[in-house]
Amino acid sequence: MDFAQKALGDVTLFPLWLDNPAAPAVEPQLIGRTEADLLIVGGGFTGLWAAVQAKEADPGRDVVLIEAGKVAYGASGRPGAIVSTSLMHGLNNAIRIFPDDIEDLERLGQDNMAGFLDTLERHNIDAQQTWGGELTVAIGDERLPDIAEEYELHKRYGHDVELLDADGVRAEVNSPLYSGAVWSKKLSGTVHPAMLAWGLKRAAIVLGVRLHEMTPMEEIGDEGGHLLVKTHDGEVKTRKVLLCTNAFASGHKHIKRRVVGIRDRIIATEPLNDAQLESIGWKNRQGVYDTRTQLNYTRMTQDNRITFGGRLTYYYGGDTDPAGDRVVEPYHRLAMAFNKTFPQLGDIRFTHAWSGPIALTTRMAVHFQTYHGGKVVWAGGYSGFGVSTSRFGARIGLAKLDGLDLPELKLDFATTMPNWIPPEPFRWLGSKITLYALDTADEKGGWRHAWLKFVYALGFPI
Ligand SMILES: Cc1cc2nc3c(=O)[nH]c(=O)nc-3n(C[C@H](O)[C@H](O)[C@H](O)COP(=O)(O)OP(=O)(O)OC[C@H]3O[C@@H](n4cnc5c(N)ncnc54)[C@H](O)[C@@H]3O)c2cc1C
Repeated sequence: MDFAQKALGDVTLFPLWLDNPAAPAVEPQLIGRTEADLLIVGGGFTGLWAAVQAKEADPGRDVVLIEAGKVAYGASGRPGAIVSTSLMHGLNNAIRIFPDDIEDLERLGQDNMAGFLDTLERHNIDAQQTWGGELTVAIGDERLPDIAEEYELHKRYGHDVELLDADGVRAEVNSPLYSGAVWSKKLSGTVHPAMLAWGLKRAAIVLGVRLHEMTPMEEIGDEGGHLLVKTHDGEVKTRKVLLCTNAFASGHKHIKRRVVGIRDRIIATEPLNDAQLESIGWKNRQGVYDTRTQLNYTRMTQDNRITFGGRLTYYYGGDTDPAGDRVVEPYHRLAMAFNKTFPQLGDIRFTHAWSGPIALTTRMAVHFQTYHGGKVVWAGGYSGFGVSTSRFGARIGLAKLDGLDLPELKLDFATTMPNWIPPEPFRWLGSKITLYALDTADEKGGWRHAWLKFVYALGFPI
């Protein structure tokens, strides 16, 4: 029996974050007809941030939020939940997609994180937030130039960063794989995502939002002056709808042209004992990413577990509940990668393993799609980087829906769209070849590099 089989022996296939007795009661489903000034569809971070911000901006506004299942059961209860000021999936990516707007995006990112913290404080939300920063680590010496470049870039834009060599990074987080790192120290760290979502849910209800769970939207009817949104057992008459359905919209005939729904996986250990903690260090509890495209990301929880993520998979049609992820086998390779990263934890057991939906676009960052002559806006596509960015996505989505005249709405991120992505079956075939090429390019080379260049030309930053 190898490490992974043993360590995954008693694993529960459910998100650690949601397996919590502190989970709030489920709000009643919508039955019958109601009216609202604003309808928000989706009870993940985007929908919850939108609900809180809409009410705070205008307490008199009548806001209804409907969620198909339970709040945070989509991506928002499943992430690694490493947060930072970046709005566009990292500074490098922001420069790649919006080089002319970078100063504005940096400032908006700082403002967003300040607003995030302020909301937590004002609404007394305990999301187990830890501000130890973010470590971007190099795996192997050949990645050290990436780290040096990342460091220079962050310094140029005024970030509080430190460049660590192999000894420096291992003194922080003791992995034999880590050969260097950039440690970004301000306004970044980790949160408990479900506790954040449940705190935002409570805040929204206290502010007067009418929140209905177990209420899937089935269709939007446009009756000219207003919209009639049908749910399973009811309907909402409204003039504005903010769709916060992220990867769940990747089956929609229009939205899916620019959004692919993929899956990513995470495993979580049992709480580490004192000797295990001693062997790993990690006193500052940074969120850790590595620089590979098929990357791993890892963090500590408040009760001293390690979560370890990163094994992207695409299921045909962007399946948001694939049977293939409801068995232990797909988590095996992730567990083996954990073992390589932290070989000193050879006796550890994983208690939880899960996957979650990611809305991927060629931008790797949030965008906005407008329907029904501006009465409906969809905000999403965070590409795996949306815990703090969803607050910004919700704010801009609302501003577009309300036709506000904000200077940021004139920036490229708000006025342009990510590239078109080929439909099925090319999407499925392309993703299979790409994920295989990413896994094996370094080792085997050949056609894999040519293929990855082609995918890059489509707009994906790999
Ligand atoms: C494994 C994994 C790791 C991640 N790690 C990180 C990380 O470390 N840092 C980071 O910043 N981000 C991370 N992310 C990304 C982050 O979790 C998401 O970007 C964020 O949660 C998106 O929030 P959302 O509200 O837009 O989407 P979701 O949370 O998916 O919410 C959408 C909601 O819409 C509901 N819905 C769908 N259709 C309907 C309908 N017809 N009617 C009503 N409701 C509907 C769904 O049930 C769902 O609750 C990760 C994501 C995953 C999956």
